[in-house]
Amino acid sequence: MLKFPIYFDNHATSPMDPRVLEAMLPYFTERFGNAASRNHKYGWEAEEAVEIARKQIADLIGASPKEIVFTSGATESDNLAIKGAAYMYREKGDHLITAVTEHKAVIDTCKRLEKEGFKVTYLPVRKDGLIDLDQLRGAITGKTTLVSIMAANNEIGVLQPIGEIGAIAKEKGILFHTDAVQAVGKVPFDVNASNVHMASLTAHKIYGPKGVGALYVRRRNPRVLLTPGIDGGGHERGMRSGTLNVPGIVGFGKAAEICRLEMASEGARIGAMRDRLNRKLHEGLDELYINGSTEHRLPGNLNISFAYVEGESLLMGINDVAVSSGSACTSASLEPSYVLKALGAGDELAHSSIRFGLGRFNTDEEVDYVVAKLVSVVSKLREMSPLYEMVKDGVDLTKVEWSAH
Ligand code: PLP
Repeated sequence: MLKFPIYFDNHATSPMDPRVLEAMLPYFTERFGNAASRNHKYGWEAEEAVEIARKQIADLIGASPKEIVFTSGATESDNLAIKGAAYMYREKGDHLITAVTEHKAVIDTCKRLEKEGFKVTYLPVRKDGLIDLDQLRGAITGKTTLVSIMAANNEIGVLQPIGEIGAIAKEKGILFHTDAVQAVGKVPFDVNASNVHMASLTAHKIYGPKGVGALYVRRRNPRVLLTPGIDGGGHERGMRSGTLNVPGIVGFGKAAEICRLEMASEGARIGAMRDRLNRKLHEGLDELYINGSTEHRLPGNLNISFAYVEGESLLMGINDVAVSSGSACTSASLEPSYVLKALGAGDELAHSSIRFGLGRFNTDEEVDYVVAKLVSVVSKLREMSPLYEMVKDGVDLTKVEWSAH
């Protein structure tokens, strides 16, 4: 039995795993203690639960539990990592490096720092969405303190070469932060193998609850120090004060443990489902363009532009499927995705693109439904498209001289 709307938007957020909810429930009721209460059982119980979760999360990324700093989510983790390092190491230098396809939590944090006098290089990406390592090397100066490059992109799912980036950062003696939100729990990620100094994580992309995340902060080789963004009771080694969200953290830990145990088989299953979606769409339709590398990519991601259809009509036609489009609603207009534009996609192709994010609870049956729906909707829309007809008649649209009578 299919349940509508079909949820293919797992990069935005993921449904919570029932096993996670079950682990969390007691911490809303009888185990309600404050993890910072040192004088009674309620506090000890909560603290113990937090420490178990800290280990579960550390184990997923090859870290030690003390290197995990809990936050309210990855937006806060990105802010803490980038601002915290920029401020702490300002005496050493005022230059940061990131990429144009980063999440807004990184880009806007860098923009804020620019207003405060820091200098930021925004690396372009190649057509496949990956950064060029020579360009990264070339951008590093004696004033560079930090490079922040995401592990996996939230729109096109491409995996950046973080092992190589970490090696370059190590060689040059600069810090490497990675927004690992979309990669962790989906593909192998190890902070030591990749020489990562800081990594942002969030629970709600790995079938855990919303509003809880973490920042991995390296403690050895080298020990990373950060200027805190929130001052208060000195929780989380002074890096992030505030009473811990115990039920959320317990859920995050459980979600991380499930990912660690099931990631290999789950990745293979979800990857096969994504390949089925891709194959069947190509069997039913032509003029499809995949955005981003197909080789270096998350198993659950497919981002396709459906040429010669209008983006909004396409989304309206498939309104029983929950997906994201390549357009972002700003206050007044529909802006094409800055990520797709960075790959060189024109506005038209960016607007007519769809991000499919497959996850743990999706099925082949859902894939088949979505393919059938898309083939029918796209074919109908193209019947009304004079451009598509011209292309089918063999006209090369790039050679047409349009006149505006
Ligand atoms: N970074 C990336 C790559 C994301 O996909 C997201 C989620 O939208 C975030 C950061 C923000 O995470 P959170 O929702 O936990 O603040």
